[in-house]
Amino acid sequence: EGLTADLPKPIDNRADLPMSRIADLNSDDFAALRQKTLKEYEAFRARGLKIDMTRGKPSPEQLALANGMLTLPGNGDHFSEAGEDARNYGNLQGLAEVRTLFAPTLGTSPDRIVVGDNSSLALMHDCLLWAWAKGVPGGTEPWQKTEAPAFICPVPGYDRHFSILEEYGIRMLPVPLKGDGPDMDMVEKLAADPSVKGMWCVPKYSNPSGETYSDAVIERLAAMKTGAPDFRLFWDNAYAVHHLTETEHQIPDILDLCEKAGHPDRAFVFASTSKVTLAGAGLAFFASSAANVRWYLASASKRTIGPDKLNQLRHVRFLKNEDGIRKHMAAHRALIAPKFDMVNEALEKRLAGTGVAEWSKPQGGYFICVDAMEGTAKHVVELAKQAGVTLTPAGSTSPHGKDPHDRTLRLAPTFPSLQEVELASQGIALCILLAALEKLHSARND
Ligand code: PLP
Repeated sequence: EGLTADLPKPIDNRADLPMSRIADLNSDDFAALRQKTLKEYEAFRARGLKIDMTRGKPSPEQLALANGMLTLPGNGDHFSEAGEDARNYGNLQGLAEVRTLFAPTLGTSPDRIVVGDNSSLALMHDCLLWAWAKGVPGGTEPWQKTEAPAFICPVPGYDRHFSILEEYGIRMLPVPLKGDGPDMDMVEKLAADPSVKGMWCVPKYSNPSGETYSDAVIERLAAMKTGAPDFRLFWDNAYAVHHLTETEHQIPDILDLCEKAGHPDRAFVFASTSKVTLAGAGLAFFASSAANVRWYLASASKRTIGPDKLNQLRHVRFLKNEDGIRKHMAAHRALIAPKFDMVNEALEKRLAGTGVAEWSKPQGGYFICVDAMEGTAKHVVELAKQAGVTLTPAGSTSPHGKDPHDRTLRLAPTFPSLQEVELASQGIALCILLAALEKLHSARND
C-alpha cells in the first residue's frame, strides 16, 4: 500500500513564506498568499498520494525488531521457573517471572500485577464493565445503580477510552490538559460530586497531546477528596517506556502515592507491550492494590481459565531483563524519532509565525497534536482526504467525537515510511494553512 518507489520530489516548503501573522496581512498580500496556497494545494492533490496517518500503529520495521520472538519459546522450552507447563491451563495472575520483569515499568511489586492477554484496552473495558455491573472494593453498589454516573475525561484524549464510556452510558466530563496534566482545580471540583466515579489518565507521553503529568498533578490526583468512596483513576500508562529522546522521563508511582494519601484502592494501572514487542500479540498488564487485584482475579476467573502463558514465556526469553526492554525501546526510537522530527520540520517551515496553528513536540509516545485555527479542523481533514492523506477524524480527541472548537488534529507518524511521512506532513501543513486562509477569507470579505 502507499507510494511506489519513484516518489515525486517533496514540496519546497520554504518558497517565500509569510513569517508574519496571517491575520495581520493587508488585503493584497492576503489575496496573493491565498492564491498561491490554493495553487500549491491543487498541485499536491494532483499527485494522487495514498498515505494513512490515522492510527498509532508500529511500522513493519518496528514489528520486525521483535521477529526473534516468533520462534520462542523453542520446542521443549515451555516450563516456567516454577515448573508450570505453559502449554496448559492455569495461573490466572500470570507467570511470576513475567510479573517480575515488568514490575519496574509498572512501578509496583510482582504480587500486585496481573498479566492479561494481548490488549490493555480489553482489561480497561473489563474493569469498567465489572465496576458497572458489580461495583468495586470500597463501594456499596454497582456503578449502574448510581444515577447518571460520570467520568472525568482530560481533553484532548484517546477516542477508544471515550467509546467505552459511551458504550455503557457513562457521562463524560471534559477537563482541559494544560501541558503538565489536567486542570487540577477543575478536576478536584468535579471529583467532589458522588456521581463522579472515575477518571481517565494517560500520565506519560499522553495520547494525543504527548504531555507528561507533573509530580504536583499526580500528587493531587492521589490525595484529592472524592465524593464517591469507590472513585477510580483509570491510569493508562500505555507509553511508560516509549521515549523519543535520550531522556527517560519518569513519573511518580501512583499506587504508592494513593496508598500514602490513605486511598490505597484508588488507582487501576494499565500498560501493555503492544508497542514494545508486537501490537497484535503483546502482553497486557493490570496493577493495583491487593484488594483490587483480588477483585480483578475473582471476576476474571469467570471469564477465562487462564492467559496465554506461552506468549508470556516468549516475552521473558526475548526481552530478558530491564536492560533488554531499554535496548529494545532504543531501537524503536531510532526508527520513529526521525518521523516525528520530519512532521515538526514540515509544520515549522509552513506554519511557524503564521499564528494559525500550534503543535506539540512530544518527548515520547505515538502522536503529535495540532491545534489548527478554530473552526477549521474538519475542513483540514477533508482537504487532506481529497489529497489522499487520511487523518484521524476531527473531533475524535473529544468525548462523543465533538470538538467544540473544531481545531484539534491528531497526527500519527509511526506507521508510514519516512518518505511518506515527509510528503504527508508537508501536505497536512498546506491543508492547515489553506483551511485557515479560507476561513479568514470569508470573514474578511477580501
Ligand atoms: N491506551 C492508549 C493511551 C493508547 O494510545 C493505545 C493505543 O493506541 C492503547 C491504550 C491500546 O493498548 P493495547 O494495544 O494494549 O490494547
